[in-house]
Parts: sequence; C-alpha cells; structure tokens
Amino acid sequence: MSDQNPVFIPGPTNIPDALRKACDMQTLDHRSPKFREIFTPAVEGVKKVLKTTDGEIILFPASGTGGWEAAVSNTLSPGDTVLASRHGMFSHRWIDLCQRHHLDVQIIEEGWGKGAPVAAIEQALRDDKQHKIKAVLATHNETATGVRSDIAGVRKAIDAAGHPALYFVDGVSSIGSMDFRMDDWGIDIAITGSQKGFMLPAGIAICGVSAKALAKMESAKLPRTFFDFQDMRKSYLSGGYPYTPAVGLLNGLAVSAEMLLSEGLDTVFARHYRMAEGVRQAVAAWGMRPCAESADLYSDTVTAVVVPEGFNGTDIVTKASEKYGVAFGVGLGQVAGKVFRIGHLGSLTDVMMLSGLATAEMAMADLGYPIKLGSGVAAAQEYYRKNRH
Ligand SMILES: *Cc1c(COP(=O)(O)O)cnc(C)c1O
Repeated sequence: MSDQNPVFIPGPTNIPDALRKACDMQTLDHRSPKFREIFTPAVEGVKKVLKTTDGEIILFPASGTGGWEAAVSNTLSPGDTVLASRHGMFSHRWIDLCQRHHLDVQIIEEGWGKGAPVAAIEQALRDDKQHKIKAVLATHNETATGVRSDIAGVRKAIDAAGHPALYFVDGVSSIGSMDFRMDDWGIDIAITGSQKGFMLPAGIAICGVSAKALAKMESAKLPRTFFDFQDMRKSYLSGGYPYTPAVGLLNGLAVSAEMLLSEGLDTVFARHYRMAEGVRQAVAAWGMRPCAESADLYSDTVTAVVVPEGFNGTDIVTKASEKYGVAFGVGLGQVAGKVFRIGHLGSLTDVMMLSGLATAEMAMADLGYPIKLGSGVAAAQEYYRKNRH
C-alpha cells in the first residue's frame, strides 16, 4: 500500500484528487472551439498566480527545464554574456544550459547554503560599462539547498546600476507556494513547471514573458523551433497551438490556478510557511540544522537537512523508500550525502507532514542517528497545534 503514502520530495508534489480528475480527459480536438474553453482560463489563472498584468503567459508541453531553454533561446544570441550566481544544483544546471547554448556565462560562485549575492550582482553590473551583459539569471528558490533568494533585491541591484539587462527568474519551486510578483519585481521572464506549486503531473513549462523580452526576439539569433514564443503567440491569437498541446494537463492547470486563487494566494503562502516552520522545529529538535545559512534564506517549500558528521544523508532516503515506502530528496552536487531534503510544498496537511517527520525519524533511528524517536514530531505537533486558526 506504499502508493498511498504522500511524497516529501520538492517536486513532483502530491496531486489533489480534484486535479487528477481534471487531467483525466478523453481526447479533444485542440483545433476546435472547445479547446479555447480550457486554454483561456488556464492562461488567465496563471497570470494571476504570477501577479502579472503586463506579461504574457506562454505554455509549452515540457518541464521547467524547457522554460529555461525558452527564456534563453528566444532573447539571446550566441556569444552573448549573461550574469548568474551558482549556489546549488539548479542554478548550476541553468548555467550549464546557457553554456551549451554558446552563451558566455559570467558566474558568481556563492556558497551552497547562501542565496543570490545581491551586492556582488550590483557590482558586476556597475563594472559592465559597455553593457555586454544581456541578461541576469536568478533562481528564486534553490531546491538543492532550500534557499530562497531576494528576487526584489536583485531587481533593485539592476536598477541601482542603471543596467538595461533582461531579468530572468527561475520560480520553478516557488511560484504558487511562496510570495512571487512578476510585475512588481520587474521580471522579464518568470519560469515554472506544472508539477510543483501547481500540484499537477509534470508536462507543462510555464513562462511569464514581459514586452521587453518579447521585443528582443527580433534580434535574438539563437535557434528555436519547439520553444519559439512568436509561433506560440500567433497560434494563441486563433485560439490554438502550433502543435499538439497536453490538453488534459492544461485543463488541470486551469483548475489548479482556480484552487490557489480561491484559497487566496496569501493564505497559500501562509500555509506553506506554517508547514515549513513545523519541519524546521522538528529539525532543531533533532539537533540538526537546515543547509540554508540564516533564517532570512529559509525556503518554505523545501528544507535540506544537514546530517551529522560520519553519516550519509542519502542512506536516510534509501531506508525511508525501501523500508517504509516514503520518498524524501537526496542531496545533490556539492551537498550530496551531506544533506537529505524534506519537500513541503503543494498539497500537504499538518497530518501528512507529521507522518513524513515520523518516517524520517524511524529511518534515522534504523541507521543509528543520535536522535530520540518522536522528538521532532513532538516539536512539529506543538507548532501545528498552536498555529491553526
Ligand atoms: C524542479 C526544478 C527545476 C527543473 O524543473 P523540471 O520540471 O524538472 O525540468 C528547475 N529549477 C528549480 C528551482 C526546480 O526546483
């Protein structure tokens, strides 16, 4: 019966039954007017979740990685310079994607456990007198380390330097779960996927695109076909798609956005904070700490828990999976083995979260960790009990 257990990975996330049903559709002709009835609410709903009125929503049958590729290939030319900080596996992978697209990535190396370094970004932009940097890339929530970066702060840094670069933000593990404001934060391209905050199966790459970014398409020379924004926009105008869309998923997306908006985004964010804070209380009770170096960096969607010296965090994940049928995330890259990750985003309740913490404790006890069974669960219980309205 292990398939009944929730997952505690930071995406893909648990799928509410209403969304599973919404995705389960008989084939529908995507060139018929029926398609528009699904597609329009999906686009309008996503717009509100991204908090953009100026931006356009472009949806590809892909995952978040496709969103990264679309952002880059629609706006830049081979040899262009982009500025990015590397502080975890996901910021690293986006940099790698840029390099494979023959972009010159000016990398600011930062500790894994820290966020995008706002002051260093501002300095790099000030030093770039000739405006060679065409885009600044930032990962809002570094899913490998459980670190939230100051996306509004990076915008301020760009403005303070008086730099015209585009601003691209990976919001894959934050959008729909943590405060995100595309227009207020002056984001030119915001990226996410369907399988994290939107609580759907993987399969849609979601891009919010500013008019400034769209205008760059005229001069951007990187090749693009599948991910061409203009092809997509032209087809949208006739209520269609340049190729076959994932219709069931788009229907799910419309329903998901409606679910989030009717709960109220602030309530959704508060719920994620509460869920995360219970996990952090448990981690402290275990005598451990998050990989994120300070409280202002704590992610409300994933906690990477640093394991004690002499232990390998991956073993917890293996034990929990094999013995108890419960999924946690392993450490990636520089923090492989040093952490294990507890995902706490999407469709989760206090009760589900407590079961995850209890499972992590059992796995750790099995592996000889110096923890007391129930200690983290009790701390989280206290927190959840006192923070319910
Ligand atoms: C999951 C994730 C991605 C990758 O998305 P895919 O949908 O797996 O392609 C990118 N960035 C962040 C921050 C993520 O959490």
